[in-house]
Amino acid sequence: MKKIIAANWKMNPLSLTEAKRNFEIIKKEAKNYKKVETVICAPFVFLSALRPDNFIKTGAQDCFLGEKGPFTGEVSPGQLKALGVEYVILGHSERRKYLGESIELVNQKIIAALGSGLRVIFCVGSQTKKPNKEIEYQLKRGLKNIKEADFLKLTLVYEPVWAISTSKNKEIATPKEALQGGFYMRKALSRIFNEKISLSARIIYGGSVDSKNIEGFLKGGKMTGGLVGAASLDPYEFIRIIKSAA
Ligand code: PEP
Repeated sequence: MKKIIAANWKMNPLSLTEAKRNFEIIKKEAKNYKKVETVICAPFVFLSALRPDNFIKTGAQDCFLGEKGPFTGEVSPGQLKALGVEYVILGHSERRKYLGESIELVNQKIIAALGSGLRVIFCVGSQTKKPNKEIEYQLKRGLKNIKEADFLKLTLVYEPVWAISTSKNKEIATPKEALQGGFYMRKALSRIFNEKISLSARIIYGGSVDSKNIEGFLKGGKMTGGLVGAASLDPYEFIRIIKSAA
């Protein structure tokens, strides 16, 4: 399964000039690491100005659940697709925390995004050190009514919320903790869906990934990639992460 390294720029940078500059720096290098799928999930306002190619894709960090209509301030999956955007992050813990997104809403967004042909990066957050039922709950509700064929367009992220770089009293997870998280997710997928989905799911890791720890998460943690927040804001550090993953 091809590895994916996805940048989550969150609400950064401040200007379009900086966004374009950082994207171009990464784009130039991404073609040297064909074994890795490189994705930049940028704020909506920059997406039309970033030019993806065969080696670097763009992604959004949210989308609405309808295609068009009277939904002030929203952006639809169809609009993103028409722009050449390939991915969308859904279910991120920051949106759940600050905007009160429920898992039911995330589920509707996932269905809409997949229906429009977007690939979905679904974040599954773990509040505790040891993965527990909350993981299974999110997978069960978040992926309700997803067609089996659409699982191919899904990337699941194991995200210990306590390891996200901006979380209070942040701790760095170990590859073993990532391994346990991924293992728990596969077991839950097999209970909720079936063995085939469980074994073929692309599961990646998110939480303070940088160029020094990515190898551990991929090898020891058996992860198929990483979702990178803070460390993706420095394009040179992000390139080092891609290089290490390749
Ligand atoms: C995230 O919030 O998805 C994330 C992985 O952030 P960071 O890498 O900054 O911990």
